Amino acid sequence: MSQSTLVYDIRNSRYLNITGRCTLRCQFCPKHNGSKQVHEYQLDLDHQPTAQELIPLLGDVSQFDEYVFCGYGEPTLNLATLIAVASEIKRLGGQVRVNTDGLGNLFHRRNILPELAPVVDALSISLNADNETAYVQHCQPKLKDSYAAVRAFIRQAPNYINKVQVSAIEGLEGVNIERCRDFVESANAEFKHRHLGIVG
Ligand code: SF4
Repeated sequence: MSQSTLVYDIRNSRYLNITGRCTLRCQFCPKHNGSKQVHEYQLDLDHQPTAQELIPLLGDVSQFDEYVFCGYGEPTLNLATLIAVASEIKRLGGQVRVNTDGLGNLFHRRNILPELAPVVDALSISLNADNETAYVQHCQPKLKDSYAAVRAFIRQAPNYINKVQVSAIEGLEGVNIERCRDFVESANAEFKHRHLGIVG
């Protein structure tokens, strides 16, 4: 088995793979489709990496447009590592983006946005559906009330984080992309229209 990839670069950004865990089982997630590769990177993790492991891998912060917490798991599930590494990136003068399913508050049973606010410049949240039935069908949440939780998170996030982008994917059965857009814009966030099969 190849070694876990903790950091990888796409275009001018450095991606940080800090967990393989996730409370969703999205049908379109490449990890459920026999692949754990994004571009040429193998993202399978055999453990939850710590800040001490990741900080030496940041490289020269001035060389990257931004650092993106991403990978094949939900970064807010490894929250202590996320905050410690993001703090270090901010201290060094870098930009931080977190790609999230928006379920961090539900999972941690508290509002984590005040903890993210000082160290996160941008959030990319996956809404995925304009209605609960389609969300449950496509994302198969393990936690009860996940759909209501992601919507609540999206409404709150712009109060804490400067740049909040929210995506839905064109081509998923039962999903109305325009209704996703309306909801996102009414929350004062930016809508990102994605297409099935393109990750990263
Ligand atoms: S939220 Fe992301 S990592 Fe989790 S199952 Fe869905 S696509 Fe995969």
